[in-house]
Amino acid sequence: MNEHDSERLAGVLEEDGLVPAGGLDDADVVVLNTCCIRENADNKLYGTLGHLKSVKDRRPGMQIAVGGCLAQKDRDGIRGRAPWVDAVWGTHNIDRAAGLLREAATAGPLTEIVEESAADPDAFGFSFGARRQQAWSAWVTIQVGCDNACAFCIVPSVRGREVSRPFAQVVGEVEALVSTGTVEVTLLGQNVNSYGRDLTTNMRNEPRWRDRPDLTGSAWAAGERPRPRPLFADLLRAVAGVEGLRRVRYTSPHPKDLRAETVAAMAEAPAVCEQLHLPLQAGSDRVLAQMRRGYTAQRYLEKLALARSGVADLAVTTDLIVGFPGETDADFAQTLEVVAEARYDSAYTFIYSPREGTAAASDPSRFVAPGVIAERFERLKVVVERSALAAHRERVGRLEEVLVEGPSKRDPAMTTGRTRQGKLVHFASPPKVAPGAFADVMVTRAAPHFLVGELVEVTALPRHRTRIPVAAI
Ligand code: SF4
Repeated sequence: MNEHDSERLAGVLEEDGLVPAGGLDDADVVVLNTCCIRENADNKLYGTLGHLKSVKDRRPGMQIAVGGCLAQKDRDGIRGRAPWVDAVWGTHNIDRAAGLLREAATAGPLTEIVEESAADPDAFGFSFGARRQQAWSAWVTIQVGCDNACAFCIVPSVRGREVSRPFAQVVGEVEALVSTGTVEVTLLGQNVNSYGRDLTTNMRNEPRWRDRPDLTGSAWAAGERPRPRPLFADLLRAVAGVEGLRRVRYTSPHPKDLRAETVAAMAEAPAVCEQLHLPLQAGSDRVLAQMRRGYTAQRYLEKLALARSGVADLAVTTDLIVGFPGETDADFAQTLEVVAEARYDSAYTFIYSPREGTAAASDPSRFVAPGVIAERFERLKVVVERSALAAHRERVGRLEEVLVEGPSKRDPAMTTGRTRQGKLVHFASPPKVAPGAFADVMVTRAAPHFLVGELVEVTALPRHRTRIPVAAI
């Protein structure tokens, strides 16, 4: 979400006439787009601002701006600690970035924080383009904010209430992207499965969707009573139906809101990839209740079974927190059991990071000792890597469709890309295969975090234009 916000920021600034600088020494404007999900982002921000002060002392005309959710949280505190910052904005007014920099240039340093996304989703800041880092693959925001209240999470207080982006606007952005050669999109939201809860559009009454039951779900095609609002599954089908789009992913669904309709859309729409990121966070019911996650381990596993029974060859990834306040050895043992049973393809494992203002951070006496957390973290890593390696070994000997990303960062002689399941594949490929191309790769070796293979053939050349476009919506 934060990386895509950076793309949107870059889009706003480019539309105002700025161009990317070669490096810090060439930059007239430096924007730090911050994230406050974890504590060390605070430390990084102020360390970086300290370094930028010395640059600005040498070049006083340079403007420094801070945006993002740390700015939303700390507000005036940022300019209090770093008065050399010219402009501060939050998560709800990215579209104001260029204007604020201009105003600061004449009026002096300023901070502008907007409390909530606009109630009218048409106006919540997507009427401008984004400067995509990759022309062949793009993030598309479908929703901002979150209506849940997980005890460890600061997102609701910095991103605000959940607001769904209008259905036609999302599909329109995808169509615009595909027209410039994008072949893969990832739909973004804090809780994508609750998409549409705040929308009232009855798509059957809209001429564009009324005659397209193929895009709006099999239930509609079967003549069911029209729903008063679109579901995430409807959006998934409509996006997957955009001609020329080869891959659709989404992140993240909340396990409690994963619906059979979404699984059916994944199974029936060929462009939707066989990949599901389903955050578990913990395997102990006691901890899950304290986290206010709204499901038990058993219920989570049932949702997972539903997804796996509906979507063949599904890769599943998750998020896990180690050392949530009050987590006992017995709680952690249950997490290990559920993780082993879930057979993840990979997992993002996090050490609990207290965020001021969240329920879980209110009682430091419940914090788990760092040494205990470190030991649990290592044990969890072993269980995750074991199941990841087992899942990857099953791919050896298979032909995978790979969307090429470019030369491998570790070994430029190798090319890297991703399978439909989202797995990283490294393969030797003289001559080089261009980013954005599709290639068939025979998998020859498996590791816990990647696959290695041999190029069989390039099946499709990149379609995107070489000059990365600012996507028009
Ligand atoms: Fe945070 Fe929970 Fe909302 Fe996810 S669902 S953004 S963890 S509050």
